[in-house]
Amino acid sequence: MATIQKGAQVIRAGLLTDPALRRAAPADILVIDGVISEIGPPGLPVPDGTAAVDADGLIIHPGLVNAHMHSHGGLARGQADGWTLEMLLVAAPWIGGNRSLADKKLSAQICAAEMALKGCTAAYDLFAEFPFPTVDGMNAVAEAYDEVGIRAVIAPMVADLSFYEAIPGLMDALPPALQKAVDGLRPGNGDACLAAIDGILRGWRWNGQGIHAAVAPTIPHHCTPGFACGCGKLARDHGVRLHTHVGESKVQAVAGLRRYGRTLLQQMDEWGLVGPHFTAAHAVWLDEADMRIMAARGASVAHNPGSNMKLGNGMFPLRQMLDAGVTVGIGTDGANCSDNQNVYEAMRYASMLSKVQSPVTAEWASAEEIYRAATEGGSRALGFAEGGAIRVGAPADLVFLDLNALNWIPHNWTVNQIVHVEDGTAVRHVMAAGTMIVRDGALVNVDVRRLAREAEAARERLEAVNADAKRLSEALAVVVNSYCPGLAATAYPVRRYLRE
Ligand SMILES: [Zn+2]
Repeated sequence: MATIQKGAQVIRAGLLTDPALRRAAPADILVIDGVISEIGPPGLPVPDGTAAVDADGLIIHPGLVNAHMHSHGGLARGQADGWTLEMLLVAAPWIGGNRSLADKKLSAQICAAEMALKGCTAAYDLFAEFPFPTVDGMNAVAEAYDEVGIRAVIAPMVADLSFYEAIPGLMDALPPALQKAVDGLRPGNGDACLAAIDGILRGWRWNGQGIHAAVAPTIPHHCTPGFACGCGKLARDHGVRLHTHVGESKVQAVAGLRRYGRTLLQQMDEWGLVGPHFTAAHAVWLDEADMRIMAARGASVAHNPGSNMKLGNGMFPLRQMLDAGVTVGIGTDGANCSDNQNVYEAMRYASMLSKVQSPVTAEWASAEEIYRAATEGGSRALGFAEGGAIRVGAPADLVFLDLNALNWIPHNWTVNQIVHVEDGTAVRHVMAAGTMIVRDGALVNVDVRRLAREAEAARERLEAVNADAKRLSEALAVVVNSYCPGLAATAYPVRRYLRE
């Protein structure tokens, strides 16, 4: 939301998506100072001097919301295949290491540019820096969103234990030379890290641009109890949101149960971290009691179907989560694992993944439920209660789809086609807070060719400086890829997929 478009504008002759209708219907939208102020039949009377936006031949839907992604993944796009989540975590030092400040901004620009061009106007970004989050790094990422023009919640992703310390028995499974080598991969001191986040939150100056900060203890069992609670306290003290990966892989679920004697979600609840400000990413391995807690606390889940499938994490119980009353948003996860930032595709995956789990259609999520998750659900997960819908009082975050694009030939059932057909290629314009940030299929403020040049130079440099880290990761991956599947073979008492 680089600039709120001041003044009045009227969007005329477009077809407005409404999940209650099979086909989008004609309506005009009056936008004043970036906010939808009136919606009415074609020919809506407007004040003198109102600028007109011609939406003839275009379908309008609310900007999509990416409920979970990682901007540091932008420069690591396409690095992973044949990896579990655990192998991805092992690879993190070489696919994301040694980034300069300019690299951090560039990586976020790549993601923000892709999201905007593919109809997304807000994202929840869990951004990692090693060994600590920094004010400069967070500002660089905020600048990237501001320049592209989309809204964001940026949460420094932190831990005070290494992956090797977090997985029960893994350190003992490493040969002595590798045990010594992973010493250097420990995150920084927990108290110093919390102090760094406190400094970031105190100085945060982006709220006016629709870019907010949050806190992300990355994975609960990668945090000591004191550190996890410290993150929760920072979020409470500063009135910001809290986001963490919970039960993403079965390895995590089993590790949590072994460490705490209860599920990860129940442990986080015990620590007082689960509330209306809390978002659990993935939540593939939550059981029914976990879901009830999430619903009772008013917490939300970010469902990342592409990443869950690509990393072999299992099938998210979307129907059960919705039935339990949990707010669900949809995310792409990082480009370092799943590998695009296309919320249309994430919707399509979410729909199909709900349907593949049962032959009983009542256990599926409908196209309308998926659409609501990727708009209103995601908005709530980001703490933007007013967003995700075309209604009076909401920011004018609008996507204009071209009815002459093949995805819409013919136009039978709007929401179904947005979820199951649209892939971003029909996006003609994107408006954020009343400002056009994509016009005629191109970003208004950022030159993608410049991003390409800079990214290629960064790729070459980072490949050279991370060569040793890559060799170490490859040696570690052999052990991890043998040890972790063994841990995942442990029986885990989740009962789901069947309704009673
Ligand atoms: Zn993630």
